[in-house]
Formats: sequence, structure tokens, C-alpha cells
Amino acid sequence: LPLDIMIKNRDKRALILVNPAGGAGKAYRLVMEYVVGVWSEAEFKYHIVLTEYAGHARDFVRSLELSEWNAIVVASGDGLVYEVINGLMSRDDWQDALKLPIGHLPCGSGNAFITSIIRHSERPIAASAEQFVVQSAILIATHQVIPFDMAVIDMCDGQRVFSFLSISWGVVADVDYESEKYRFLGETRFTIEAVKNIIRPRIYDGYIDYLPYDTTDGTIQMNYTTSNLAITKIHQHLLPINEPIPIDPTTSKWRRIEGPFASVLITSKSAISKDAISTPQSTLTDGYLTLQLIRFDSSIRMNLIKAFTKLPDGKHFDCDFVESMRIRAFRIVPSGTTGNLMIDGERVPYGSIQGEILPSIGLCMGK
Ligand code: ADP
Ligand code: MG
Repeated sequence: LPLDIMIKNRDKRALILVNPAGGAGKAYRLVMEYVVGVWSEAEFKYHIVLTEYAGHARDFVRSLELSEWNAIVVASGDGLVYEVINGLMSRDDWQDALKLPIGHLPCGSGNAFITSIIRHSERPIAASAEQFVVQSAILIATHQVIPFDMAVIDMCDGQRVFSFLSISWGVVADVDYESEKYRFLGETRFTIEAVKNIIRPRIYDGYIDYLPYDTTDGTIQMNYTTSNLAITKIHQHLLPINEPIPIDPTTSKWRRIEGPFASVLITSKSAISKDAISTPQSTLTDGYLTLQLIRFDSSIRMNLIKAFTKLPDGKHFDCDFVESMRIRAFRIVPSGTTGNLMIDGERVPYGSIQGEILPSIGLCMGK
């Protein structure tokens, strides 16, 4: 059915949101040099809008006339994809808005979304940044559409957002946030900040409550016939963020892991950037979130060195000091008041945070 929708709408145009500040400021040039040619050859119709400020993409898709477009393509990093997804989800007609498939041209410094999409089809990612852009442009021009999982997130300030990549607390969040100032270096920014964090590892105290993924549970399989369920019905396991979660094993399926931690990462995709395959076996539609954590103990420096060295091909996932599990929902409760919590690479207020998987709720341009 999604494919059907696309072919029917082929005469419509795709909205291309180009962030001139994306990556090292190269997004517009990459589109002009490597995308426009591919698309005119493929007779792919589009209309380019340059974003003018942080938040512009979000505002733009909030007031978009849905019937005029057949897709939204982001030429930037994951930050602009996040704006688009959350802009669409804030609309009253979000169920229709989500039927506009989202494409991603890797023109940012973190390009985890398109990396996960291409990995999902089990094809190798092009080596150079330019070839990667061409590869993605060709994929988008094929007009194919596939679903992907998201997660609903409640934050300590009462805000609700939607995550399409990851929730991080501890070293991954620190590296992601503190490397922002090296944006001009592209993806190298992550390596530099990782080295700093290995030399001086930080300790994260607190606990994680989680609901294990159980295939025998009545999972709501989201697809085109059920996507008109209200979002309140979909996330059926979360309590209000200030209400304690019962963890008594005789009455509750929720479990608790006590810190201290060095790293807590919860993902719904396989990549957290092009060169960081956090969850190698993850597809776009697992139907669960993957929680992985590294405890803070006496071998933490050695473990972090191993983890960061293996992260580019996902081999850290097999290390015995990386604990992982499939979960449906979680709540992270930090005990301190300062630190970094990141959702999809965006820093969010520090405090309790919880979320639950929304299986196959999104649509993207992929194969
Ligand atoms: P990167 O991977 O390089 O970080 P992102 O897509 O995350 O790329 O974009 C970085 C930030 O730029 C986002 O937070 C986005 O809101 C912001 N942004 C978008 N358009 C503009 C603009 N015209 N000027 C400055 N910042 C912008
Ligand atoms: Mg970003």
C-alpha cells in the first residue's frame, strides 16, 4: 500500500529542506553538486526550501499543506530530521502527516537516520561523504517507502517528544553534546570528545526501570490499517512521570537496574552516527527498544577504550561488559542534578525521563 500511495502521487513534488548550517556548512553545496543532477535524470520532482533558523523546519512542517507534497527530504544531519518528525507529530492531523514519507540526505555531522536505513537493506554504505550523498539521492529517487519504529518520550518538565534514534545518558550523551563545538570537523568531532571522556570517565548514579519486551504480550503491530489508533492507546505502559513504577516481581513486569553507570544507551535504530553502529542487529522495525549499558567499575577506562574502538562496526555489542536487553518501555532516574541526557542528538532537561516503543509508526524513503 505505501508503494501504491507513492506511485499515485508521483506527479506531486517532494519538499526538500536544506540546512545551510548543517554539517560543516556544506549541505547546500552537496545538494547542488551531487543531488540535483541525479534527480533530474530520474525525473524526480522537488522543491527546495533553505532553513533560516534553528526550529524553522519544525515550524514549516507544522503548517504544511499535506496534499501538495509526496515526501519530505531533509538535507542536513539528524537534528533536522528530529525537527521534521516532531513538527509533524505536533499537528492535530499527525496521523495523516506521518503518511508523508521522510527521506534523508546525509549532509550533517551526524547522519544516523540514513545510515540505519541503508544498513537495514543490507547494502554497504558508500565510503566517501559525496558518494554517500549520491547513494541516498538515488535511493530517494526510487520512490520506495518503508516503515520505521519511533518512541514516545516524556521528560521531567512535562514535555512530550518523539524519538526516532536513541536516548543516551552518560558517556555517549557527553560525547555527543560536548563535541557540538567541533561541528566544523564533521564526524571527527565524536572521536576527539570520546578520547577526552576515556581519560576522565564520569560516574552516573541513579537507576533504570524497564519493561522487558515479551513477544507473547499483546503487541500492537502498527501498520497502515491500525495507524489511526490514538497515540494514548499506543503507549499503554507508561505511568505519569512523577508516579513511582511498581517493581515488585510478584505483581509487576517492570524491573530495576541500579547504577552507577558509565553509559546508558537506548536505541530504536542500528546507528547513532555513520561511524558508530550502536545496535548492529537492529532493523528499522524491531518492535522493541534495545537498552545497552556499561557499569562504572574499576575497569571502566579499559572497557571504554574497547567499546569506542569497536563501535564503528558494532563489535562492542558482543563484549561481556556491555549488558543489553530488549525492552518495551523504560524510565531513567538520575540521582544527581547535572549531566547530559540526549534524545536523537538533542540535549534535553536533566532529570527523570521515560519512553515507550511505537512500532512501525513512521514512514521513510528506503528499501
Ligand atoms: P548536524 O549533524 O551538523 O548537527 P543538524 O541537522 O543536526 O546537523 O543541524 C544542526 C542544527 O542546525 C539543528 O539543531 C537545526 O535546528 C539548526 N539549524 C537549522 N537551520 C539553521 C540555520 N539556517 N541556521 C542555524 N541553525 C540552523
Ligand atoms: Mg545535530
